[in-house]
Amino acid sequence: MNRAYILLGTNMGNKLAHLQMAIELMHLQNISLIQQSSIYKTAAWGNTDQDDFYNQVIEVATELSAEILLQTLLEIETKMGRTRNQKWEARIIDLDILYFNNEIIDTEKLKVPHPYLHVRRFTLIPLTEIAANYIHPIFNKTNSELLANCSDGSEVIKN
Ligand code: ADP
Ligand code: MG
Repeated sequence: MNRAYILLGTNMGNKLAHLQMAIELMHLQNISLIQQSSIYKTAAWGNTDQDDFYNQVIEVATELSAEILLQTLLEIETKMGRTRNQKWEARIIDLDILYFNNEIIDTEKLKVPHPYLHVRRFTLIPLTEIAANYIHPIFNKTNSELLANCSDGSEVIKN
């Protein structure tokens, strides 16, 4: 059985419903919820005229390989109506793999640990809530340590 941490993000429509729906669709694909963080609000960056983001991190158990997990998550995004037109556009749902077991994966399609995990408070705050002592396999630091060292100044508010 594999363990993975997934970041969910949404900044369109009924955001709470989108987070819930994504978790249900994962469940239907044998991606089982083990833990979930609180939901956090962050102002959109990149395109600042957009709606705020809601973010949540979940821990899941699955028999799927990392590649198939990614493919399944991308299919769920599409099923939920996500389109990819321009960078930074508003999104119904974004599902990113943060960690997959203790593995380091670096292919064109999939990079794990997620390359921006350690520079974004909207990722580190929910991640630390449910996995404070999990050690990042490249930096050899816990999520709490990464958060303490993170220079991202953006405000992340518990919903
Ligand atoms: P972003 O999440 O950076 O805003 P997208 O959701 O549009 O952008 O993802 C673009 C591509 O990133 C996906 O098609 C996927 O192949 C790739 N990718 C690489 N590593 C990961 C990862 N750890 N989790 C999710 N997608 C990833
Ligand atoms: Mg993504």
